[in-house]
Amino acid sequence: MSVLAQAGGRWRSAAARAVIPCLWRGKYFCSGKEPVENNPVTPMLRHLLYKIKSTGPITVAEYMKEVLTNPAKGYYVYRDMLGEQGDFITSPEISQIFGELLGVWFISEWMASGKSAAFQLVELGPGRGTLTGDILRVFSQLGSVLKNCDMSIHLVEVSQKLSEIQALTLTEEKFPLERSAGSPVYMKGITKSGIPVSWYRDLQDVPKGYSFYLAHEFFDVLPVHKFQKTPQGWREVFIDIDPQVSDKLRFVLAPCATPAEVFIQHDETRDHVEVCPEAGVIIQELAQRIALTGGAALIADYGHDGTKTDTFRGFCGHKLHDVLIAPGTADLTADVDFSYLRRMAQGRVASLGPIKQQTFLKNMGIDVRLKVLLDKSAEPSLRQQLLQGYDMLMNPKKMGERFNFFALLPQERLHGRSHQMNARQSEPSPSPVAGFSELAWQ
Ligand code: SAH
Repeated sequence: MSVLAQAGGRWRSAAARAVIPCLWRGKYFCSGKEPVENNPVTPMLRHLLYKIKSTGPITVAEYMKEVLTNPAKGYYVYRDMLGEQGDFITSPEISQIFGELLGVWFISEWMASGKSAAFQLVELGPGRGTLTGDILRVFSQLGSVLKNCDMSIHLVEVSQKLSEIQALTLTEEKFPLERSAGSPVYMKGITKSGIPVSWYRDLQDVPKGYSFYLAHEFFDVLPVHKFQKTPQGWREVFIDIDPQVSDKLRFVLAPCATPAEVFIQHDETRDHVEVCPEAGVIIQELAQRIALTGGAALIADYGHDGTKTDTFRGFCGHKLHDVLIAPGTADLTADVDFSYLRRMAQGRVASLGPIKQQTFLKNMGIDVRLKVLLDKSAEPSLRQQLLQGYDMLMNPKKMGERFNFFALLPQERLHGRSHQMNARQSEPSPSPVAGFSELAWQ
């Protein structure tokens, strides 16, 4: 974001970038220059105008949180925004192969860590439930490997609408759902393959125990604070009402230091940064759980390793959308800073990645899986769909290089028990972690 700085201790205005159309999230920057006639006063805008008039400009993090997850009017709460009819498309919605390979990853980690008698699969922000559904299909197909393993599914979801869609995807209404709106476990059911599934609003409420955690395009919707370097030091970007147009929002710079500045590294060299304290809290919780009870976390998202600056943008109807226009009608997102996630996990668990989606899926055997499915399908339209899906996931110009995989694992999974105990050289070295190293066919 280029900031139009003014001298003195007053709020200053900031401007943003140009609109370029695209099909999936995570590619271009947004515009700050939509004509006023395209700026309908949505219920969310009315709510924000009232809030700002009452208590002053709000941080970008507060804006994101309100716009996306406000329980009454939030973008995520009452709509299905995924897929062709929605605002953006994600890998699990593009190809079944994506979820299948992730299912294989979890089984591979379960085997490498000693085939625990029970495990929980926990997904953060499960969208339509497609990814968990594809993973469970792999688990069913490999039933002989997983037999006698006591499995349960735990979904962390704030959206009422999406939780209903997830329930439909996973249970196919074979068993009735149990609902208790006021409880931390707000819904319970049984999947079509007979596995218990529970819904929560907060990761903290998911029972502790040996678990595999999954977050696909989840961290990018968590609220970020934005900071601009100025001659006076770091100044946070806030959102205020445009003094020229009473129902239009604009970016401003805070006149003095603000508390979230503590999240900026002392040796930071960029002149604009985005920090996401909520991501730090979640990573610390995951790291603590994995260190205590075992398991692993697999995080896939678009992002960078502490190098990018202004990545805050909006998506509506598969197009970039000005983040300040018609709030509540478009998705808001910012690239994930994987270097921050790594720092938050350090000392408790080992981390791997980020590596490009193209490399991860190749290492997981996507080419072999594609060939099997192509050989099995005679229908030309199905074959074309499989090939198009593969291209979308793997092509470096599409999702192949833009999306990354990052994992958290117990220290001993990577370094062996001898690392901690400083003991015998003769102990067998741990097996490589699937996806993060090249696949060796035996
Ligand atoms: N993982 C899915 C959906 C990604 S969209 C896919 O890849 O297709 C983001 C998801 O996170 C949605 O399900 C949204 O409702 C959920 N979400 C957003 N903010 C959340 C929060 N603070 N806590 C839990 N879920 C959240």
